[in-house]
Amino acid sequence: MTSAQRVIITAGASGIGLATVERFRAAGALVAICDVDEAKLAAAAIAHPGLVTSKVDVSKSDQVQSFIETVQARLGGVDVLVNNAGIAGEIGPIEDISDDGWTASFNVNIHGAFFMMRAVVPLMKAQRSGAIINISTGSTVTLPLNRSPYIASKWAIEGLTRAAARELGPHNIRVNAIRPGFVDSERMRGILGDIAQKRGVELGEVEAEVLQYISMRSKVQPQEIGDMAVFLASDKALHVTGQLMSVDGNIEWE
Ligand code: NAD
Repeated sequence: MTSAQRVIITAGASGIGLATVERFRAAGALVAICDVDEAKLAAAAIAHPGLVTSKVDVSKSDQVQSFIETVQARLGGVDVLVNNAGIAGEIGPIEDISDDGWTASFNVNIHGAFFMMRAVVPLMKAQRSGAIINISTGSTVTLPLNRSPYIASKWAIEGLTRAAARELGPHNIRVNAIRPGFVDSERMRGILGDIAQKRGVELGEVEAEVLQYISMRSKVQPQEIGDMAVFLASDKALHVTGQLMSVDGNIEWE
């Protein structure tokens, strides 16, 4: 009998992160999450008895290090890291982006992912196995306008994915990224809702417009990102590493 996977999911208290918690737990994993939102962490702990929850800002390396020590003590090790924490960041033309707006996206989207990776790699190297899954975005392909901090920081996580896959492959540690597309999520409703408001139209009208660019003409459910993460962390993906996996229904961007 193989033992349960020990899984860390950052920003696991809501959205895609929480859906990923559900999919890993359904697959029998022991899961630890961190998030900055205490109320959401408390709700996740009630909904999922046995879930390890910690208040951690992934952009602070000292908080990340003590979180990993907590997880080691509670779960006995780490087999899988899902770097899901990511913020949309400041939106606007390049000349209007503030210093803080620029650095905020990088602090969470790439520095946070790197700090987590750096903290778990020694444990994974010692056990000669591990899977790291970085959540990027389909926006690195579609390049929506006025999102330079988000797109640049997500390109960075894709670069880190490729570099780490090469470096860690000899240690039997696999590193992949997922590019979610148009996910049926609060975040996406917020983004498209703002566009709808600016244009003075209904949210449904903007959604229908976006769906025209998607071959399958439907939104991705957050659980599907979780399912891809479970697959990438499993023995079914033993030779899948260094890949940027789109889960988007095929975006037909021109
Ligand atoms: P969300 O906005 O619903 O949730 C984000 C969570 O991150 C919140 O619980 C928040 O408290 C937490 N968080 C924010 N800053 C943090 C920090 N510094 N440290 C720890 N936790 C922090 O997010 P989502 O829409 O589920 O997106 C999850 C990931 O998927 C992100 O990396 C995002 O870029 C990516 N993504 C989402 C979509 C989408 O349609 N929702 C599409 C493409 C990519």
